[in-house]
Amino acid sequence: MTWPEAIRKLVESRASGRCEYCLIDQGDTGFPHQIDHVISRKHGGTSHADNLAFACYLCNCYKGSDIASVHAGTGKLVRLFHPRQDGWAEHFRIAGAIIEPLTDIGAVTSRLLRFNIPARVIERQLLHALNRYPN
Ligand SMILES: [Zn+2]
Repeated sequence: MTWPEAIRKLVESRASGRCEYCLIDQGDTGFPHQIDHVISRKHGGTSHADNLAFACYLCNCYKGSDIASVHAGTGKLVRLFHPRQDGWAEHFRIAGAIIEPLTDIGAVTSRLLRFNIPARVIERQLLHALNRYPN
């Protein structure tokens, strides 16, 4: 989808250039970050700014049109993290190069978006060493 430049600038600047899911800076990825419909259009989400998030290519690909997932521990259906309505630090924390979930929402989002697959953890370790990723 091609977005009007004003929308792209708004979403990017609101996120300070970081993926609103995994926090990687756009300047540290091989592909430009994308605009994500937090609630996908197939589930009735709009293209209004309050339903848009800045997402890296990987987070956006893994999320796709999903809005919830099954919690691996409880088997319950849990909605995904919503960057416009939820605080990141309520649901996740950074422990070294790992993004640790703090809530059920954090757990399903972390698993579905594959925050901690080895390649992403190694990438974060390198970015930490360069002071390019939050501690
Ligand atoms: Zn991301």
